[in-house]
Amino acid sequence: MAQIQFTNSLTRKKEVFEPLDPTHIRLYACGPTVYDYAHLGNARMAVIFDLLRNVLETRYEKVTYVSNITDIDDKIMTRAKETGKDISDITKLYTAIYNEDMAALGNRAPTIQPHATDHVAEMIAQIEQLIDAGHAYESDGHVLFHVPSFPKYGGLSGRSRDEQIAGARVEVASYKKDAADFVLWKPSSEDEPGWPSPWGRGRPGWHIECSVMSEKHLGLPFDIHGGGADLKFPHHENEIAQSCCAHGNEGDLSAFAKTWIHNGFLTVEGEKMSKSLGNFTLIRDVLDEGVDGIVIRLALLSASYKKPLDWSKELISRMEKMLKRIYTVILDTAEIGTIDLSETHKNDVLAALYNDLNTPQAFADIHRLLSDLERGDVSSEDKEVLRSELLLLCDTLGLKPENAENYLNKADASTLDKALVQKLITERDAAKQNKDYARADALRDELKDMGIALKDGPEGTTWERL
Ligand code: AMP
Ligand code: ZN
Repeated sequence: MAQIQFTNSLTRKKEVFEPLDPTHIRLYACGPTVYDYAHLGNARMAVIFDLLRNVLETRYEKVTYVSNITDIDDKIMTRAKETGKDISDITKLYTAIYNEDMAALGNRAPTIQPHATDHVAEMIAQIEQLIDAGHAYESDGHVLFHVPSFPKYGGLSGRSRDEQIAGARVEVASYKKDAADFVLWKPSSEDEPGWPSPWGRGRPGWHIECSVMSEKHLGLPFDIHGGGADLKFPHHENEIAQSCCAHGNEGDLSAFAKTWIHNGFLTVEGEKMSKSLGNFTLIRDVLDEGVDGIVIRLALLSASYKKPLDWSKELISRMEKMLKRIYTVILDTAEIGTIDLSETHKNDVLAALYNDLNTPQAFADIHRLLSDLERGDVSSEDKEVLRSELLLLCDTLGLKPENAENYLNKADASTLDKALVQKLITERDAAKQNKDYARADALRDELKDMGIALKDGPEGTTWERL
């Protein structure tokens, strides 16, 4: 059987994927902080991990995909203060919006979508384990992970100690023993959300939630951990530190997750799309402009997941053409039907995706299949095979081939040239006046082909969509 390969950020190598348990594949990807609408950069991560899940499901019967919701964070607290709204109202609203947007892009809901605030007790328990094991300490109401206690720290990102310190998010606080130490727990003031803990009322740092939620819902170690490349340091580095050190696995970075997969950035004119740079485009705005979610999905999959992808209007219009062509061929060949492909045959069709999710190659394969299916000199039997291959690729890429008819009807409606409709009606009126009924009927037929029905009334001719 063809092997599935991924680039493992932990070993920096492309490796054959060997499941820990072939009867159950376990996958975790860091989800959004819910305080605002998600942008296309967030969508890239979600689409890529949804694809990864689909690809794994073509081979393995059970895949559990966990992707979290960060619903306690300083950005959320700031938003609550700015708007005078309750934190839970904000997080509920933006979780719902995020999930709607993700569904519009053809993503299935993760198998489990845990919320950080539902796991505070487990976070406290893990912090206690870290203190007991000598990897964490309490200082001034905070609990910090002591980075020098874990000599393998930095193994994922490859950052030197100097770089780690330079990259630390906050300037060195007085309560830290070492500049690289990071927060596991911090105190909350009266007007801030907080939970009782052995260290006083407070709230967790960001990183501990993913260590706890992945372990709770997947067990340790699990197969694949992922997220955007920006998360490698410090977030994923810190997750590894917490999870390995809480369980006495200081010597083995893969004792938490075996394979780490990071997606490249979605960029705008070469710069990472992000809230802080202000160069972001919201998923919701692109959908509201009438761009179909599957067109956005295609765009996000058009480059290798490892590489940066630059967002542009030109990319969208290329993907609109591609989706229209795919759906048109699927509908035009509907009568030909499909066959059941053998396992070996399926492996061949999915070879590009099995090869480190090589979506550009999968797109090239789709174009070749479309060209063959559009040809007049290919037999129906051959087309039946080609069509089955095309549908398998489209399904795995999450392109929703079952939506072909709907999409094409919508696309027709939005590209309808109303001026042309009016011109043909005027021409038909003139033909009728000249008693050229054959011409008038031909024009009526032409309009019918465009999906337009005419109604002749005392006020003249009106039209509507068929
Ligand atoms: P955040 O809500 O900022 O924590 O991000 C949620 C997810 O989206 C994380 O996995 C990020 O790595 C990912 N992400 C954010 N911005 C981008 C971007 N411009 N390109 C690719 N992934 C991104
Ligand atoms: Zn995380």
